[in-house]
Amino acid sequence: MLLLPALLNVREKVFALTKELDRWLGERYLGELAFNLALSPPFSGHDLQANQFSKVWGTLNRALDTAKLQGLPYCPTGAWGVSYKQEECTACGKRPARHQDGEARRCEVCHDEHRVGGWLPRVGAVSWQSARPLPGAWAVELPGQLWLTLHEQPPASTTGLSGGFRLYRGGRETVAGLGPCAS
Ligand SMILES: [Zn+2]
Repeated sequence: MLLLPALLNVREKVFALTKELDRWLGERYLGELAFNLALSPPFSGHDLQANQFSKVWGTLNRALDTAKLQGLPYCPTGAWGVSYKQEECTACGKRPARHQDGEARRCEVCHDEHRVGGWLPRVGAVSWQSARPLPGAWAVELPGQLWLTLHEQPPASTTGLSGGFRLYRGGRETVAGLGPCAS
């Protein structure tokens, strides 16, 4: 849940974000996954007081329930132009394969999950950035012209990063090091 200021263009911004997420999710997951984004009616700070909050909570849940009934509202409908020239993905068995890896064929989703899974044991920090990462970086493209980048060591500088965090590494953990990145 996000608490947003009730600015004049907040509906347009949420609409644009929903549209972009729907397009990305539709193309990538072919309708199997939806992100339900809802904007409740505006409320004041007074409504957040304990004796009023149940009403706000009710309107939030109604807005979200309504959104859930209309999953992927801005995703194109009708026949989807999906090509199975390379047969189906051998990992999920559902989406068309796009990457050949020895005997395995993977779709975009399983390909990214396979790559991220291979990197994770060595990851020490995670960040988001809008600039395309350098070739060879452990990165996955996300909607909103955003890249998720995994780092073996926390980056020396947070310049150019939209956000990020470092992972707890148990006994090797030290007080010094990168904290939450500036956003
Ligand atoms: Zn797959």
